[in-house]
Amino acid sequence: MDRDFLLTTDTARHLYHDVAVPLPIIDYHCHLDPREIYEDRRFDNLTQLWLGADHYKWRLMRWAGVDERYITGGAPDREKFQKWAETLSLAIGSPLYHWSHLELRSCFGYTAHLNGDTAEEVWQLCNEKLKGISARRLIADANVKALCTTDDPADSLEWHEKLAADGSFGVRVLPSFRPDRALGIEKPDYPDYLKRLGQIGSFAQLLEVLKERLRFFVSHGCRVADHGLESVPYAPATEAEVEAIFRKRLAGEIPAAQEQKQFKTALLLALGREYHRLGIVMQLHFGVQRNCSQRVFRALGPDAGVDAIGDRAPIGELSAFLNALDETDELPKSILYSLDPNDDAALVSVVGAFQSGAAPGKLQHGSAWWFNEHKKGMLDQLATLAAEGYLAGFVGMLTDSRSFLSYARHEYFRRILCELIGSWVENGEYPNDEKALRAIVEGVCFRNAARYFEL
Ligand SMILES: [Zn+2]
Repeated sequence: MDRDFLLTTDTARHLYHDVAVPLPIIDYHCHLDPREIYEDRRFDNLTQLWLGADHYKWRLMRWAGVDERYITGGAPDREKFQKWAETLSLAIGSPLYHWSHLELRSCFGYTAHLNGDTAEEVWQLCNEKLKGISARRLIADANVKALCTTDDPADSLEWHEKLAADGSFGVRVLPSFRPDRALGIEKPDYPDYLKRLGQIGSFAQLLEVLKERLRFFVSHGCRVADHGLESVPYAPATEAEVEAIFRKRLAGEIPAAQEQKQFKTALLLALGREYHRLGIVMQLHFGVQRNCSQRVFRALGPDAGVDAIGDRAPIGELSAFLNALDETDELPKSILYSLDPNDDAALVSVVGAFQSGAAPGKLQHGSAWWFNEHKKGMLDQLATLAAEGYLAGFVGMLTDSRSFLSYARHEYFRRILCELIGSWVENGEYPNDEKALRAIVEGVCFRNAARYFEL
């Protein structure tokens, strides 16, 4: 994992080092805490930074048979780190192996391999360096131009406001509108959540409140919305039917499955139209089976490393949903992500069906995500997009991360992108045209996202 990690040809090395490396990062989807950025959080040790909230690492440790006490339990941080080092040292082929070592090199200057024997020297070195490292420093050093956090419509955006008012941090930290809880009509705490949004007695009022919150978000720089769905629903219903379903829920009854779907379809379509009107990008994430181990979910809550790839997304419903917005020319710029890589070819073809001259790459197939965020997953996603769509218009990588160290994932993506493009040039599938190659690499790494999100 040296300077030319993953770069096996002259073209790949040239494109990566000379074109990709200097470009800034737009992280248009992450889960960083704006409060921690505002307060410029510091970390006492590497365990806090690495294992504090990273369910990817927790999952790998469980797989290696590590006791939960050393993962999310009460073991001392140094002992947790030892278990992590021992686990990671054998994680051949795992992106966690690659990411962790890229992070050690770029953030701490450590170039050897982490294992049970080197854990002590890594612990000492990194904890010493952490005294001079903070959340803002990690973001700024990664050359991030803007990042979009993930926020509930009921959020006050207090920390975004403070960050915007504080001129000392040169990176734009913008909120993203994620109304999953407003769509979660089947959830037991739905009535409580509605109270957080305001006085809501009808579906029409819910919609008005959400639109008002969206305008508030936009006034704080929001450029993008995000929806986490099992699948994209399409079950049309009349206004009266949707109102009746909503009233049923207000009366304490959980609507039937088909009614839930009708409600979600109506709310998503209404929000989609509003995104279109306001120029907001709509992200649709689906294909996830959440909280598979209910035992772990009960103990630790969501995002604890016990999710999985869900069933295939119904492409017919997705297409009908997009068409319902497209019919009246109210389809917003949209990014579609399925967690199931088997959906990708179909998904890219649907994306292709709704392109228009309104914006280059108006619909996007999202970057390889979560369980697919590894070398093979990224190569597959990029190759499918290139084969069936238009790679040059791709908005590229996001971290989707809760960790301030995760900008190494952009480095990982850029290396893989340049290696793939380099291989096509070197085997004669595409000419060694410096101007065109630069345009493609600069576009995918930075410029397309800057244009698409208007940042
Ligand atoms: Zn996310």
